[in-house]
Amino acid sequence: MFNTFKKYTWFFKLRWKSYTFGVSALIICAILQVLNPKIIGTIIDHFIGGTLSWKILLFWASLILIFSLVMYALRYGWRMALFGNSTLIESILRNRLFSFFTRMDSEFFHKYRTGDLMAHATNDLSAIRFVAADGVLTLTDALSLGGITLFSMFFFIDWKLTLIAILPFPILIVVSTYLGKMIHARYRGALQAFSSMNDHVQESVTGMKVLKTFGEEKEDLSAFKKETQHVVDENQRVYKLKAALNPSIEIVMGLTYVIALLVGGSYVQSGRISIGDLVAFISYIGMMQWPLLAVGGLINTLERGSAAYDRVEDLLDYAPSIVEQKNPYRRALDGDISFDVQSFAYPDDTEPTLTNIDFHLEKGKMLGLVGRTGSGKSTIYKLLLRDYDQYEGKISYGGIDIKEYALESLKKGIAIVPQENFLFSTTIRENIRFGNPALSQKEVETYAKLANIHEDILEFPEGYDTEVGERGVSLSGGQKQRIAIARALAVEPECLILDDSLSAVDAQTEEAILSSLKQERMHKTTIISAHRISSIMHADEIIVIEKGSISERGTHQELIGEEGWYNDMYQKQQLEKKLDREGE
Ligand code: ATP
Ligand code: MG
Repeated sequence: MFNTFKKYTWFFKLRWKSYTFGVSALIICAILQVLNPKIIGTIIDHFIGGTLSWKILLFWASLILIFSLVMYALRYGWRMALFGNSTLIESILRNRLFSFFTRMDSEFFHKYRTGDLMAHATNDLSAIRFVAADGVLTLTDALSLGGITLFSMFFFIDWKLTLIAILPFPILIVVSTYLGKMIHARYRGALQAFSSMNDHVQESVTGMKVLKTFGEEKEDLSAFKKETQHVVDENQRVYKLKAALNPSIEIVMGLTYVIALLVGGSYVQSGRISIGDLVAFISYIGMMQWPLLAVGGLINTLERGSAAYDRVEDLLDYAPSIVEQKNPYRRALDGDISFDVQSFAYPDDTEPTLTNIDFHLEKGKMLGLVGRTGSGKSTIYKLLLRDYDQYEGKISYGGIDIKEYALESLKKGIAIVPQENFLFSTTIRENIRFGNPALSQKEVETYAKLANIHEDILEFPEGYDTEVGERGVSLSGGQKQRIAIARALAVEPECLILDDSLSAVDAQTEEAILSSLKQERMHKTTIISAHRISSIMHADEIIVIEKGSISERGTHQELIGEEGWYNDMYQKQQLEKKLDREGE
């Protein structure tokens, strides 16, 4: 149980001043609180002995009043100190998690689902926050109040009576240690169930349109009900143990009262202690009830916090497979690309996705990649962008292995317009200058014009200030693609990759974009993949990928002279075009 606090040592050290203040205030409060029964006992003894005067009564009564005022001030102080700290640890860890997310590779995001990651950043962190305030508070309070009460019983009343009365306490230690361990394990299960439910909410809300189109709401709802039931069940398992913990405290308390009354009563009769002492003793036992109950609550808070902390640590322990080498090249990419991969398999896959892919792309040239869907085009880009490292072979840029570059240099030098493009929930302007926020409106417009989207943007209600993404206007697929192209162009990359990025625009727009790209990027490298032959036919070299290997290569002229997939596709698309024209 106390191992939980070990995990927080770094934070206690960081905030040692406010913790020292908070804990001292708590302890002083406990001491003042314990003095009350002794005062009452003294007054009763004066009363029985007939020595109680107004003066004595007023003295003790005003002391009680002063104590409560001081306690008020101290309680205010420790609350501010402890709860202030707890929000701080939550925000520190949340920032740490967030910056960790930004450093993770594709494999990580493939492994962990969005809802799960969000649960880590919200639910788990609040459990952790609880330990930093409520945990520390309960522990200090329980220990100080319990300790001082025991001390008072021992020294102010009767040591023998105290020892006999607390005989049942060890039962509690055994029970709570045992239950605590089990509660920890079950809390982990409960947090996991919540994570998975959270993921379901996230996915269903994001995919609600698709869900509705397929009329799958009912099925999804019943699947969701199962998830929530699972969360309930897992929490029930925790509550069952928690429910068993508190009554055991009651039993121990009951036993203690019985012993105190029996033994204490006989002590009063034999004159060993006074009646006032016995009354004070009994109210001390009453005061022990809270610290003991607090142990139950403490176990709960600590085990929940500790399970959450473990989950967050497990996540933070994830070692990305993509790491920079020591003293990496921090220079801008320049020169030819040489790609030579004998074999690459996705993690957890046994069969390679790529085999013997090699090409040499001179600076300033354009490469076209075509092939059936699923043949491996996007995978080639992932390797070039160093999303994955574990391939056999070598990829170099300007003669230097891409693994030797600083990741930042690599990512700055190569811009990709991904197949599934994503725009942020902000204005069109901010989306376009995302990779280069210093751009002026005029420069933003230049790139928008290059991507053939400028005119469209002007027609939006607020032009470049129009919000897009989840909160903004709905853009057509082609508009999104072109904004994504403008965003990639805006970083003036040494190498531009268009991964099927023109699929949603018509042939005319495609032609316009391609010809302006050709002019603008005359001395820079471009790689395009597409299903439409017209997108890549002007490339300096075209490679056809089939099932992860190169099946054909050459220029457009060379390839249509061969009997192969390329020629077939070309003829088919020409025919379609012709039919379309005739149809019109
Ligand atoms: P398309 O034209 O449809 O975009 P593609 O040529 O770009 O297809 P890739 O996306 O490279 O094809 O996929 C090649 C193969 O690798 C596919 O069989 C796909 O299922 C598999 N694949 C892609 N991404 C992963 C991944 N993260 N983990 C495991 N397998 C993957
Ligand atoms: Mg692809």
